[in-house]
Amino acid sequence: MKKLTELARLVSQLEELTSACKKCGACQSVCPIFEQTGMEKDFARGKIAVLDGVMEQVVSNSGAVLQRLDNCLLCGSCQTVCPNRVESLRIFFSAKKILANYKGLSPAKKFLFRQILAKPYVFNSVLSIGSLMQGLVLKKQGAAPGTRAPRFPASLILEGRHVPPLAQVPFHKQKTAESLKIGLPVENSSRDTKRALFFTGCLIDKIFPDIAKTSVEVLKARGFTPVILEDECCCGIPALSSGDHEAFTQMVRHNLAQMSKLRFDILVTACATCAFTIKKAWPMMWDKADSDYEKIEAVANKTADITQLLGGPLVNKKTVSNQNAVPVTYHDPCHLKKSLGVSEEPRALINANPDCRLVEMAAPDACCGMGGGFGVTHLQMSAAIGASKLQSILDTGSKIVATTCPACMIQIAGLLSKAGHKDISVCHVIELYAKAAPFDVV
Ligand code: SF4
Ligand code: SF4
Repeated sequence: MKKLTELARLVSQLEELTSACKKCGACQSVCPIFEQTGMEKDFARGKIAVLDGVMEQVVSNSGAVLQRLDNCLLCGSCQTVCPNRVESLRIFFSAKKILANYKGLSPAKKFLFRQILAKPYVFNSVLSIGSLMQGLVLKKQGAAPGTRAPRFPASLILEGRHVPPLAQVPFHKQKTAESLKIGLPVENSSRDTKRALFFTGCLIDKIFPDIAKTSVEVLKARGFTPVILEDECCCGIPALSSGDHEAFTQMVRHNLAQMSKLRFDILVTACATCAFTIKKAWPMMWDKADSDYEKIEAVANKTADITQLLGGPLVNKKTVSNQNAVPVTYHDPCHLKKSLGVSEEPRALINANPDCRLVEMAAPDACCGMGGGFGVTHLQMSAAIGASKLQSILDTGSKIVATTCPACMIQIAGLLSKAGHKDISVCHVIELYAKAAPFDVV
């Protein structure tokens, strides 16, 4: 009974959200899926149309509705251009939640989200074993930037992909991380003691730990006192994107409980997707009547992407011109630019490094095609969208591609590696900015 009442509440909320769509079609031109397929059903208007009379659709046609919703990068481009302020991401997340409530989730997804991702101890153990065993399924590529390719043609989710390997030691197990955990002495070399909770994020922790290490060093050098959670859990976006609110709630509550153990003035992350999830998706998808809502809102209000925090007006623009500066191009992650409106700050941080020359690519904010789980479940479509991004990168003649999202880094590194571009590396903006130390802050 409780489940039915909740379902009715969700359906009525969703119907209110979808009624804002005036079917104008402005979202068509920006949808990367529509660009590939040219089909009405693939961009926001078509997806929202299938939700008209949600309950009838869910009951009579749930498989087709889910398929249509799954064929989406959740990039938010449609929402950015909508003249009627239709909250498409909220609509898609909510519709997935209704479908998962009504139809149930596959046992594999349930297990992955609830028993692995929502339990940091289990997730960390699984991935430590994975990092030891990865040599059995992945082989080194001659191509930069350090990616691996599957040894066998049929390699499940890795099929056809080149990927960066799992780190041997994730960030949370490194010495730097240990010194920043609650209850241990926190080194304070700063002139300002603003405490910044560095939210590492799963991909940075387990694949790119050097980005976390560099971020922490830069935060200290810029006058913050970084701290990290003793036992960080996934931000919840994979579960939310699949409609598994039980797992999403478990993950958020775990992180809130950890956050309540320490004082921090700002929450900062080097993952654009974690920044979007905590700042926007947590409050957007949480029941306002729930007792934890206020805490969520408070955390969201003090959350920032690291480039947003450090690349504001205080960063001095490069003053020295360097003839030998390396050409660098920047890719705007969808979650950073379209959902958080941050685009100038990462560029300011790149420009702060006198050894870098920023060369803009065509459509730097076009989606790279990764879209989290989309890159795994829709491999061919992801590769087709990625092909335009690759061409835009190559056209700039840059030797470095910088971005601020580890998922985009994985996609771009894979595209470059598969196409055999050994001379172009992929990095996080903070790694370029770190090389500009000592920081010239006005
Ligand atoms: S732009 Fe907005 S109102 Fe127009 S069709 Fe797309 S979602 Fe609907
Ligand atoms: S979120 Fe992105 S992929 Fe999905 S409908 Fe909107 S523009 Fe298309």
